[in-house]
Amino acid sequence: MLTGIGIILLTFVVMEGVAWLMHKYVLHGFLWFLHKSHHTHHKHAFELNDLFFAYYGLLAMLFFILGSEPLDYRFWIGAGITLYGIAYFVIHDVFIHRRLKLFGKTSNVYLKALNMAHKVHHKVHGKYGSESFGMLWVSPRYFRSAYQILKKQEQEKRGSVHH
Ligand SMILES: [Zn+2]
Ligand SMILES: [Zn+2]
Repeated sequence: MLTGIGIILLTFVVMEGVAWLMHKYVLHGFLWFLHKSHHTHHKHAFELNDLFFAYYGLLAMLFFILGSEPLDYRFWIGAGITLYGIAYFVIHDVFIHRRLKLFGKTSNVYLKALNMAHKVHHKVHGKYGSESFGMLWVSPRYFRSAYQILKKQEQEKRGSVHH
């Protein structure tokens, strides 16, 4: 069981690396025709880019099938991919892009930095010139500005209470 949890955690970390590489070199590469839908403004509920969920879902399913009866390490890899997919959806689609209106504004520095980093990624609407391709890994420089913005908001809030 402990090995299982270890493999899940390792897979989760590896998936962030895989997602980064995929995003930078494949999505902004030869699969740009699918990912483009995510970099342009539109009013549709779904994007061609959502096909990537199906891709990772199938991948996880494959690992589950290969790794059960008897249960082996591949089952846990499948579980890691699934968990990463859920985390990605909650952070990227719900929290950042607000496809479901579940979260309000955050006062958490990590979440704020993550949001800012991804909005910078979306500043560029074309295939080239984007930065911050990661999802859960955020470059340290965003933490500093996120912290300053939150501090300023906090001060303004306090200021308005006193008036
Ligand atoms: Zn992109
Ligand atoms: Zn996005």
